[in-house]
Amino acid sequence: DEVINRIAAGEIIHRPASALKELLENCLDAGATSIRITVRDGGMKLLQIQDNGCGIKKSDLPILAHRFTTSKLSKFSDLSHLSTYGFRGEALASISHVANLTVITKTKKESCAWKAIYVDGEMTPAQKGAAADPKPCAGNDGTTVTVENLFYNVPARLSALRSSSEEYARILDVVTKYAVHNAGVSFLCKKVGTSAPDLSTPSSTTKQAIRLLYGQGVAKDLLTAEVSAPRKGKRKRDADDDQPGGGKSDEDGSWEAQAHFTSANYHSKKFVLLLFINNRLVESSRIKKALEACYTSILPKGTSPFIYLSIQLDPTTVDVNVHPTKREVHFLEEEEITERIADAIQARLAQSGE
Ligand code: ADP
Ligand code: MG
Repeated sequence: DEVINRIAAGEIIHRPASALKELLENCLDAGATSIRITVRDGGMKLLQIQDNGCGIKKSDLPILAHRFTTSKLSKFSDLSHLSTYGFRGEALASISHVANLTVITKTKKESCAWKAIYVDGEMTPAQKGAAADPKPCAGNDGTTVTVENLFYNVPARLSALRSSSEEYARILDVVTKYAVHNAGVSFLCKKVGTSAPDLSTPSSTTKQAIRLLYGQGVAKDLLTAEVSAPRKGKRKRDADDDQPGGGKSDEDGSWEAQAHFTSANYHSKKFVLLLFINNRLVESSRIKKALEACYTSILPKGTSPFIYLSIQLDPTTVDVNVHPTKREVHFLEEEEITERIADAIQARLAQSGE
């Protein structure tokens, strides 16, 4: 039974960077404005992430690592959203099955912080036979999650990992992308025992974060495009009633997208794509292909652009069958939305080339 839990958890948490992504999203969901990450041995030995977000109530700690424990469902009207990615309540549970998990947390209301250790979904008692209770400790407002010895009990996963430096590079890549998407949040990422961080961002704007993290070459000729579709049914057929930006993305069927992308003046061997859907870093081969195609006629063969694209969709339209084990995201009217975004980018590129 526990073996099955471990295998299932390993399907959700593939490697240190995927654990980190889940933990980062939790910090951001908690409203953190500062996130500090410390890594040892590519995250295999230690992955620690400290935020200054809302913290976790002491009374929630005992069930925190139970499967499907989430505080984020009340935001949705319908329980079918349980399978909307991002809010499944599976991340901490999964991590507790494949690593040593410690949470130290303090809400504004508490006078001290509380520490809880989790094994296989359960909070552990301080001593054998004792009642499982969070322990009071010193700490600031916010939450520190410590993940140690990832995959110590899943040898197959452990042996599938690459070198520490490669795993660390993946971690940095995830942090960098989230730092661009959440430019108002200050991020810090460093290896244990080193004083100089490998990534450190002040609170800034998206474009400033792109310049800082991806360099002046990318930032110099960055173009911007925005596209949106108002709520279905409210959309009048008259062309003169087409008001862009009027739709709110939480309304039925509406969506909006914002993109920053390099012009024909920039190209690189590697295609860098930062794709966020509803604030989650995702992959979509359909979108990737469509964006690449925008550049085929304007960039030298074998070179690629830099693209940051953020799409806000009505959460009910993101495919409810998307499971975290599937890396690809799917959503309703994917083809049409992708085409509209690609058209807008292409139009902007053409305009800048004139
Ligand atoms: P989900 O994010 O899908 O709700 P998780 O397993 O990632 O599930 O987290 C479970 C719950 O733990 C969250 O719903 C949230 O209430 C709480 N939580 C986790 N990390 C943090 C954090 N850094 N700050 C505040 N609350 C957190
Ligand atoms: Mg989560």
